[in-house]
Formats: sequence, structure tokens, C-alpha cells
Amino acid sequence: MSSAATILRRRPRRILVAGGSGFVGSHLCDALIEKGHRVICVDNLETGRIENIEHLLGHPNFSFRSHDVTLPLRIPGVLHEIYNLACPASPPKYQIDPVRTFRTSVIGAINLLNIAREKSARILQASTSEVYGDPEISPQPENYRGSVNTYGPRACYDEGKRAAETLFHDYAECHGVDTRIARIFNTYGPRMCADDGRVVSNFVVQALSGSDMTIYGTGQQTRSFCYVDDLVAGLQALMASPSECAAPVNLGNPGEFTMLELVKLVLEKTGSRSSLVYCDLPVDDPRQRRPDITRAQNWLGWSPRVSLREGLEHTIAYFATELSQGGLAHQRVS
Ligand code: NAD
Ligand code: UDP
Repeated sequence: MSSAATILRRRPRRILVAGGSGFVGSHLCDALIEKGHRVICVDNLETGRIENIEHLLGHPNFSFRSHDVTLPLRIPGVLHEIYNLACPASPPKYQIDPVRTFRTSVIGAINLLNIAREKSARILQASTSEVYGDPEISPQPENYRGSVNTYGPRACYDEGKRAAETLFHDYAECHGVDTRIARIFNTYGPRMCADDGRVVSNFVVQALSGSDMTIYGTGQQTRSFCYVDDLVAGLQALMASPSECAAPVNLGNPGEFTMLELVKLVLEKTGSRSSLVYCDLPVDDPRQRRPDITRAQNWLGWSPRVSLREGLEHTIAYFATELSQGGLAHQRVS
């Protein structure tokens, strides 16, 4: 990038974060505010929580708008960037109302792309490793087209995200919108909801509360876990990248673990004596997942820095505090 462009990028910008009160979105809002930007957080609080952004509410550069992205949105004034993170991400949550999840991905993307077009703002889509479905190759590079079931309980999310990527491509081609696409692999950390249903929050809360640890299937399936701070750095690097970086970019930590390895690590780190219970494997649960991050390394100079061990320590400390303050009392772990 030229030095003039670098200076321009460093200027404070006005940025819309859709889904900004969720787990990842709230950390992104923190990072953007910290850098002196003005942030408009748009969220309908479907899976997000006001507690995640409570500390930002009085900040002069931060505003919150309660809004559903499936409805058109008007943003007065200048807007430089849009991050689209608005969509439930946990399988049990996005399967509660699959039609709604699909609408959020597709109509939400159209509404935000229309704002980007109107304002000449750069827009980044939070896509997902789920676009690879149950992958037949590992690690997964961006040019792998995936193995996704169109007709099953995960399809509302996987196909919704795939359709959104298509819309980003088409708005760039047909309307000249400046787009970026991050394919995010499993990310974890503080501010996940205790009742979120994803594996890291489930295991940590179960271990800390002495409940049974729920292993789905044999526990031999793998995932690659990225700590939230690494992801937030990657999202900002992708947003700041030149327009040649419009094609999808994997963001994730290539360390690959079975769920049995993860559960052992959580038990070790918490010192818990919880027992393992084996439950049915959810339909279409991918058997393996690991990002090829060559593109992110070459295009963005980005690599994750936080090991699973270290990230788990931060996450365990967060949930331990929540537990001790009774903050999990209203949340049920599935
Ligand atoms: P999250 O559920 O904590 O956050 C999603 C946010 O979007 C919530 O605040 C929710 O209230 C909001 N939202 C949902 N539907 C909305 C709507 N119709 N209108 C306005 N707001 C709406 O999930 P997360 O883990 O923070 O994920 C953030 C984004 O990153 C999602 O788009 C998700 O698909 C993507 N992603 C996350 C992961 C991960 O492992 N965390 C992996 C791949 C992709
Ligand atoms: N999983 C599990 N126990 C749980 C929750 C999830 O064994 O309590 C498994 C799940 O079947 C999947 C993996 O952990 O194989 C990751 O699940 P998660 O919902 O976190 O993410 P995704 O399946 O979307 O990658």
C-alpha cells in the first residue's frame, strides 16, 4: 500500500458494525473505538447482549441503534466502512428459526450492501468456514468449493452465508462496491454467552460448574480454534487491505484439535473433575476443519498469535468471574 493510502487509512473513520453487540462484534467495537474511530453499532440483540457494549454506551464516539438488518436502514451523514457481523453463529441458535437465519444472511447483506453503495463505503462480510461444509480436503484453501448439504438443519446458515458471498461478488462487479470477505473459522473467548451452545463455552461452563461435559458423537471430529483478539486483528487488517484483496480470505488458527483433546485441555486448565457424557452427533456435523491461511499471511501479513492454551486461560478466567458474580444464573448450558 502507498504511504498516502496508509495515512488516509489511519485517519479516524465513521464505521458501522452490524452485529456489534455480539461476541465478536463487541470486541471489534472496542478495538475500533480504541483507535479513535466513530462507531455506530447496529444490532437487534437476538443473540447479542447489551452487557457486551455497556462500557461503550457513554463514549462520545460510540452510538447504538437497535435495528433488525432484514429491514432497510438509513444512516445520515458520511460513512467510511461497514462490518457485517449480524447473524446468529451458534448452531443451536441459528437453527431455532432457520428461515429467519437465512433472511438475516441474505436480506441483511443486501440492505448493508445498498448502504455501502449509497455511501461509497468499504464493506466487509463475516463469512464462515461453514461455506466448506463437511470438507473432503484438509486444510481448506479459499479455492476449495466445499461440500455443503443444501437440504438439512445447517443449510440455513451455510447456504445463507454462501449466498451473501455471491451478493458481495455481484455488488462489486455490477455496482463497483468495495467489498471484502472474511471466512472465519471457530473463534472463542470472553463474552461468549454461557448458553451459546458452541463447544468452547459449553465445555468451560460445564467444567467450572461441575456439570457433565457433553461430547457429541465420538469426539474424534476436529476443529481449529482462533482466539477472539487474533480474529479482530485479522478483520481490521482485511478491511485496511487494498482492493486487490476482494476475494475471500480465511481467518483462523491452523492448530487442529479433536473435541476429546479440547475437553482434556479444559479439564486440565480448570482442575475440574466433571465426567464425560457422550451425546448424539448433530446432523451434518463436519468431521474436520482446518484453515489454510497462506492467503491471509501473504495478503495481510496476518497470523494468529494466541495459542489454544493461552486463549483458554483468558476464557476460563472470564467465565469464572461471571459464575462468581452470578452472571450465568439466567443462562442455561445446552
Ligand atoms: P453472535 O451471535 O455473538 O453475534 C451475532 C450478532 O448479530 C448478535 O449481536 C446478534 O444479536 C446480531 N444479529 C443477529 N441477527 C440480527 C439481525 N437480523 N439484525 C441485527 N442484528 C442481528 O456471534 P459471533 O460469534 O459474534 O459471530 C459474529 C459473526 O461472525 C456472525 O456473522 C457469524 O456468522 C460470523 N462467524 C463467527 C464465527 C465464530 O466462531 N465466532 C465463525 C464463523 C463466522
Ligand atoms: N460439540 C460437542 N459438545 C458440545 C458442543 C459441541 O462435542 O457441547 C461439538 C460439535 O458437535 C462440533 C464441535 O464440537 O463437532 C464444534 O461445535 P460448535 O457448535 O462449537 O461449532 P461448529 O460445529 O459450528 O463448528
